[in-house]
Amino acid sequence: MARRRQIYEGKAKILYEGPEPGTLIQYFKDDATAFNAQKRGTISGKGVINNRISEHIFTALGTIGVPTHFIRRLNMREQLIRQVEIIPIEVVVRNVAAGSLSKRLGIEEGTQLPRTIIEYYYKDDALGDPMIADEHIACFGWATQEEMNDIADMAIRVNDFLSGMFAAIGIRVIDFKLEFGRVWDGDYARVILADEISPDGCRLWDMKTNQKLDKDRFRQDLGGVEEAYQEVARRLGLLQPDEDSAVLDFDTHRKKRGK
Ligand code: UDP
Repeated sequence: MARRRQIYEGKAKILYEGPEPGTLIQYFKDDATAFNAQKRGTISGKGVINNRISEHIFTALGTIGVPTHFIRRLNMREQLIRQVEIIPIEVVVRNVAAGSLSKRLGIEEGTQLPRTIIEYYYKDDALGDPMIADEHIACFGWATQEEMNDIADMAIRVNDFLSGMFAAIGIRVIDFKLEFGRVWDGDYARVILADEISPDGCRLWDMKTNQKLDKDRFRQDLGGVEEAYQEVARRLGLLQPDEDSAVLDFDTHRKKRGK
C-alpha cells in the first residue's frame, strides 16, 4: 500500500491525508509530554484508549447537537475526521481549582469554584501557550466575536454534558481543554469541536477518593498512569473488566509485526 501523506505531527497525535477531500486520519500515539514538552515519556496503550474515549464522547456530543470533526473510528489507533482550519486558541473550562489556576492565584487545589470559568490560551508552543483575553483574540483576528460566542456556548454545553456523564460513573470533572476549527460551506464558515477529549486534556478525579484519573499522574510522577486511563475507559463501558491487557497485548503484537 502506498504510504499516506503525513500532514502534521503533534505531541500526542499524527494527522494523515484522508481518503476523500476534506477528511483527515487522526492517529493517536502513546507519547506524552507535559510542562510545554520539557517532560517527555510514553504511556503504554494510551493512544488506543484515548481513541476509544474520544470516539465515545464525540459521538455522544453529536447526538445532543454539538457539531464535531469526528466521522468514525477506523481502527485501534485511528479515526476519520473532517479537515478543519484550526482556530489557534485553547479553550480551558474549569469547575474546580487545579493546575495553573491554583498556582497563579494561590487557590487550593480541589476548591469548588462558585461558577464555571472559561479561559483562553494562544496556541503557540514557542511562547508556551500564553493566557489571553477576548481583547487579544479580537485585536489579532484569531476569531470573530460571533465565533467566540459560539465557542463559549459549545464549551458550556460540553461541560454540562461531561460533568453529568462522568458524575454517573463516580468521576468529577475538574477542568478540561477544548480546541475548535472552522469548516467552510461556500463563503460561510462554521465552528465545530475538533482535536480530542481524553484523560490527556482533562482533569478527572474519583468522586469518593479524589484519586486522579488523568495525565496529572504522569505530570506529577504518581505512578499507575496506564491503569488510570484504563479505569476511565472501563467505567465508561469501553473496556470489559478483563480486556485491558488484551488491548495492550494486541497493540504489542501489531508493533512486533511492524505495523
Ligand atoms: N491542558 C491541555 N493542554 C495544554 C494545557 C492544558 O490539555 O496545553 C488541559 C489540562 O490537562 C487541564 C486543563 O487543560 O485539564 C487546565 O490546564 P492548566 O491550565 O491547569 O495547566 P497545567 O496545570 O496542565 O499546566
